Amino acid sequence: MKFRPELSVNQNIQLPFKTKVTLHLKREDLIHPIISGNKYRKLKYNIAFAEAHNHDTLLTFGGAFSNHIAATAEAGRVYGFKTIGIIRGEELHDKIQDNPTLKFAQSCGMQFKFISREQFRLKSTQSLIEKLKREFGDFYQIPEGGTNDLAIKGCQEILTPNDKQYDCICASVGTGGTLSGLINSSSLSQQVLGFSALKGDFLKEDISKFATQNNWQLLTDYHFGGYAKINGDLVTFINQFKTAQQIALDPVYTGKMLFGIFELIQNGFFKDNAKILAIHTGGIQGIEGMNKRLKQKQQQLII
Ligand SMILES: *Cc1c(COP(=O)(O)O)cnc(C)c1O
Repeated sequence: MKFRPELSVNQNIQLPFKTKVTLHLKREDLIHPIISGNKYRKLKYNIAFAEAHNHDTLLTFGGAFSNHIAATAEAGRVYGFKTIGIIRGEELHDKIQDNPTLKFAQSCGMQFKFISREQFRLKSTQSLIEKLKREFGDFYQIPEGGTNDLAIKGCQEILTPNDKQYDCICASVGTGGTLSGLINSSSLSQQVLGFSALKGDFLKEDISKFATQNNWQLLTDYHFGGYAKINGDLVTFINQFKTAQQIALDPVYTGKMLFGIFELIQNGFFKDNAKILAIHTGGIQGIEGMNKRLKQKQQQLII
């Protein structure tokens, strides 16, 4: 399946309440069904680097429902790399078939190593990397979530010259790599708003490491309790949005961001006539795994 960055258009969103604000959604989710949105942007220059340096194996880290794991596996298949996923949680080793993300990654040829949460915390230490090299041979290492300098470079290509017309750029934040790329390619007169998808004050610091401008703000009121935590209000919102706009939102990132944007517009957070561009960073592959969990708990599913 080819990547089609040209499919990422800015689409007008009809707001279901009275406002002078306009909201456009940049459809990065349409670039590729799996390596969608920012994961394509983040992998692009990493893949080019690995190719240029004759690596034949990509190794990366992630949780069991990670969009980055799915994207790396698919990118390996498309570009002809072996892929190794170091997955958080030893207990998952015999549950691959129950997990849509891992099942998909395995079908792309990804090989897994399941490690404990304690070991996973050591993921960037030299001693763990050396241990992995003894086990798997040489590889090109991509960090968890895919954020490094080359990823930021790719994310700087999300905004185009035409996007200078917007007053405000919004994106969901996991590691902050995507937001940093947006900040670096925005105009100083634009405001860049990050919607934190998880709890943690470290995010501001992480973004500051990569961001070259100060025209940004991190909003922390819309993480719904933490990473991959959701509630009925969020599922209802995502389903209403899908019905009204015919656009699917993932529950971990973009769903939370748009919930936040709708609420902030109604609370008068944005100035009159503000033009907002929100980035649909993709992540649709995660809906199936989330629905499995919701079904077990007999809760409302995402449509
Ligand atoms: C990974 C991901 C994010 C977060 O991107 P960061 O660069 O880690 O902040 C946002 N949205 C989706 C859909 C993602 O998969």
